[in-house]
Amino acid sequence: MAPNPDYNNLAAFHAKLARSRRILAVCGAGLSASSGLATFRGAGGLWRNYEAMALATPEAFEKDPGLVWMFYAYRRHMALQAKPNAGHYALAELAKRNPEFLCLSQNVDHLHVRANHPSTQLKLLHGSLFTLKCSSPTCDYTEPENFASPLCPALAPAAVEAPTSPTEIHPLLDTTHPLPQIPPSSLPHCPQCKQQETASLLRPGVVWFGEPLDSDTLASIDAWIAREHVDMVLVVGTSSLVWPAAGFAEQARRVGTSVVHVNLDAEEVGNVRRLGREDFAFAGDAAEVLGRLLGPVVGRWDGGWGGV
Ligand SMILES: [Zn+2]
Repeated sequence: MAPNPDYNNLAAFHAKLARSRRILAVCGAGLSASSGLATFRGAGGLWRNYEAMALATPEAFEKDPGLVWMFYAYRRHMALQAKPNAGHYALAELAKRNPEFLCLSQNVDHLHVRANHPSTQLKLLHGSLFTLKCSSPTCDYTEPENFASPLCPALAPAAVEAPTSPTEIHPLLDTTHPLPQIPPSSLPHCPQCKQQETASLLRPGVVWFGEPLDSDTLASIDAWIAREHVDMVLVVGTSSLVWPAAGFAEQARRVGTSVVHVNLDAEEVGNVRRLGREDFAFAGDAAEVLGRLLGPVVGRWDGGWGGV
């Protein structure tokens, strides 16, 4: 199948968008990167000298919960210092104007929520840095929207203000200084199983490598997709070759849905070659591109949508 000859034509995309009612977005790290946040999910992502992917596992937490908590405390702090960008606001505004728009995000930084994206039209596939949950498999304690930074005195080094100058690094990332060793007793414990005198540690409410996605969330997405034909799938800031975006894009293409790729490398030759007849690809910064793509529907972003 030959790719759409107008794959990066903004007017052609806008014509398609005007005819689209049921729209699904799948957002990934590139959208957070537009807000200045590293997401560490890609291969080779380093935090200090640690491979970030190796810290995002249940095994790492079991072995050294203090180290894993410091990594997440740092990410909580950086996410709190970051701001939602034009892309987050455009998606939130689209959701408010179109009740048939559903946004799925792999990002755990809470920036969609802070852009006032309607909660019923937002599925956080990988959870949130600001949800705490009990690490015991037999305890269901969950605490949403805990924005404390530092979370506890032992994690205070992660909550130091980030330097504003690009030549300076956050003191916690300075590998010439060793990380403080944090004993488990100094980390937050579950208030629910405390009563049984076997209080487990609280852990970040994110999906770690090797863990399944929340089955209720997946079931609700499947039900939404199955209900009626989806007109358009926006794949934003993530490769459409990697799951979960790959699954949704493939499912959509099979039934003739238009897949729209927004990513830094979206217009590279190999990626364009894979496009279908109804697909689009726009390369660039996710925030900037989304602003242009959704502009006719949501109005021009002037930095003032919603409260930040
Ligand atoms: Zn518990």
